[in-house]
Amino acid sequence: MASVINRHLDEEEIEKYSLNSISEAETGHIEEHLLICEACRQQVAQSDLYVSSMRRAATRLRNAPPRTRQHSWAAATRLLPVLAAGVLVVLAAFVWFARQR
Ligand SMILES: [Zn+2]
Repeated sequence: MASVINRHLDEEEIEKYSLNSISEAETGHIEEHLLICEACRQQVAQSDLYVSSMRRAATRLRNAPPRTRQHSWAAATRLLPVLAAGVLVVLAAFVWFARQR
């Protein structure tokens, strides 16, 4: 069969194959190569592992509602110095006006 790949799969092919974002024809070529090539089979297995752990991590992030509360608290903490500086400026202006009289 002329369509059999006589070279190893490149990273992009392996990644796409793991993500299932590849055409049927390409999948055929890749699977034919994987049948005869242990090295590429291992790379695909590693890539699959990576993809599934990324998916798990993404799912975990989505299923963690307390994070949003932490985020707004962190934002408030970051704003605190700005608010403090604003209060200081107002106080300084007040004191300066009081001294003018
Ligand atoms: Zn190979």
